[in-house]
Amino acid sequence: EETFYDYLEKFLLNDGQLWENKYPRWNFQDSSMVEVKDFLPAINPLRRTCCRCGKEYFMNKKRKYITREECKYHWGKLRKKREAITWISCYSCCQGDDSADPCSFSRLHVCNRVGELTDYVSTESWKNEETKRKVFAIDCEMCYTTQGLELTRVTVVDFYLVQIIDLFVKPDNPIVDYNTKFSGVTKENLKNVDYSLKDIQEIFMNLFDKDTILMGHSLESDLKALKIIHRRVIDTALVFPHRLGLPFKRALKTLMAELLQKIIQDGEGGHDSCEDARSCMELMKYKFNEDAKAANRGSHKHISSSSFYTKAPLMKF
Ligand SMILES: [Zn+2]
Ligand SMILES: [Zn+2]
Repeated sequence: EETFYDYLEKFLLNDGQLWENKYPRWNFQDSSMVEVKDFLPAINPLRRTCCRCGKEYFMNKKRKYITREECKYHWGKLRKKREAITWISCYSCCQGDDSADPCSFSRLHVCNRVGELTDYVSTESWKNEETKRKVFAIDCEMCYTTQGLELTRVTVVDFYLVQIIDLFVKPDNPIVDYNTKFSGVTKENLKNVDYSLKDIQEIFMNLFDKDTILMGHSLESDLKALKIIHRRVIDTALVFPHRLGLPFKRALKTLMAELLQKIIQDGEGGHDSCEDARSCMELMKYKFNEDAKAANRGSHKHISSSSFYTKAPLMKF
């Protein structure tokens, strides 16, 4: 595990990369404020645009809905598809073209802002000798509340792919849509849940060190959901880039299928945060093994970096 930890060092994001990829950080001028690239405070927080159907809707000062109308939308993405000799655009949800009537309906409009930039904690002062040189993978699920997206489930997996945390979390604000199709989290799951975001932050604080390496696929969204600022980060969406470069990213599901020939996110129940966290750890182990093999092949040609791997046998996973 320590060899792996040292190996991962070269994939850690530097401050510039963290910022560019929208990881939260403290504001340089006002260290009590958190900032995220391109995240501007809403000019009028009571006037919003629905992230699903694009319609404008209004809230009152008590953060209750004034606009109470059904949200009609496509949950899938518009993709180009080849038909006979031409390309057509169609939705991945219902295969309808770009003028097709919405295929999904929900009670209310929602927005996908991940809260306001308050209640953040930083790992900078966290100390834990046990996890200081360890690596963990994280995945979170979120639901829509009256304030945007909020945490509903968090999973942490260790180096051995053992799940050390898997908890449902009760959002601070009223839930508007459980987002079960994507999160896998149901109303039933959250029924008797007492953990708040604050509790989860405390659990993390007791468990991790500022030097602990945390990994995830587009981990910035998980850290924003957890409201945690951490600098020792591996992002598998950046380690395995899209051939067209950013902002395109390869989906975790695609990476697992192409590199490890494993099918994930196949179930009806949406994402499983445990499966996703494990997948990230497996992908980085795969990368480690690929590099080790390449180094072993190159060792006859005096490639200097190969000495690193002579101590490390290939990992099984
Ligand atoms: Zn559709
Ligand atoms: Zn809507």
